[in-house]
Amino acid sequence: MAKRTAERTAGEFELITRHFTRSRRSAAVDLGVGDDCALLRVAPGMQLVVSSDMLVEGRHFLSTVAPDRLGHKALAVNLSDLAACGAEPLAFTLALALPRGDDHFAAGLARGLFAQADLHGIELVGGDTTAGPLNICITAMGQVPVGQALLRSGARPGDDLWVSGTLGDARLALEVFRGTVVLDGQAFEQVRRAMELPEPRVALGQALRGVASSAIDLSDGLLGDLGHVLQASCVGASVRVDSIPRSAVLASQAPDLQHTCLLAGGDDYELLFSAAPAQRQAVAAAAQGAGVAVTRIGALTAARGLQVVDGHGAVLSQTWAGFDHFKS
Ligand SMILES: [Mg+2]
Repeated sequence: MAKRTAERTAGEFELITRHFTRSRRSAAVDLGVGDDCALLRVAPGMQLVVSSDMLVEGRHFLSTVAPDRLGHKALAVNLSDLAACGAEPLAFTLALALPRGDDHFAAGLARGLFAQADLHGIELVGGDTTAGPLNICITAMGQVPVGQALLRSGARPGDDLWVSGTLGDARLALEVFRGTVVLDGQAFEQVRRAMELPEPRVALGQALRGVASSAIDLSDGLLGDLGHVLQASCVGASVRVDSIPRSAVLASQAPDLQHTCLLAGGDDYELLFSAAPAQRQAVAAAAQGAGVAVTRIGALTAARGLQVVDGHGAVLSQTWAGFDHFKS
């Protein structure tokens, strides 16, 4: 990894070399870690897709998380952004601030990070490390055929609104950590996994190219992220709250808590996308090919604004704040 050796002790340098240097190469990497820059090869006719996300202890993750799960999540949230654009992941860089030369922590972080990298066939190609408050910043790079990236701006009135997977479990886990909800051990482990081990919908995103009219990944809560799509596309939406897919654990909670977790939860890392009704079979085929469930939860409207309706079609008047990491 890159320079700044003057700020490192010999132990830190050794720790990084030991845990974060690998000799593997993917086809897209002509030159990885070890020089001033990495050299990546983007296939002819493809655009480079770049996304960066920072995870800060206490704000984006709790100190209770195991290091390998943190490594998994740090890369997964970046791959989720690539998925939202329909991109194929190529490589990533890592900028890491570590408060201490903790060998156990670094080993666990690297294990989780590289397991997720291997799952998606990508390699760490550079970055930087320094001593400081725990902070993990990953930049993920991918490729997409020119002009085919899924964007927030393509939604049209009359399009169906879809989500992948189930929503709300990560927020429910956060409420358990906050002490506002009590779950039994098995239920807690399930929702905790949703919070700590999100699965970026990379295959689904690519399968939706040419099918979906817009897409975004859900990191800050359904309503907040949907609001970004509505603004970019100059449309409105109506969401049927009863249609939003949820786990059995969340479904067993009080309705108000369910609504908060589903609509303003955060940390879902599922895809929210729109598609014309004529594309329903194509959406189903894309989801089946990717091995991910998708559910229709509403529709886009020419009238601006965002309505949430219950099972009887009545508009819910309550407002939900968008998820603001650990501060909502
Ligand atoms: Mg995103």
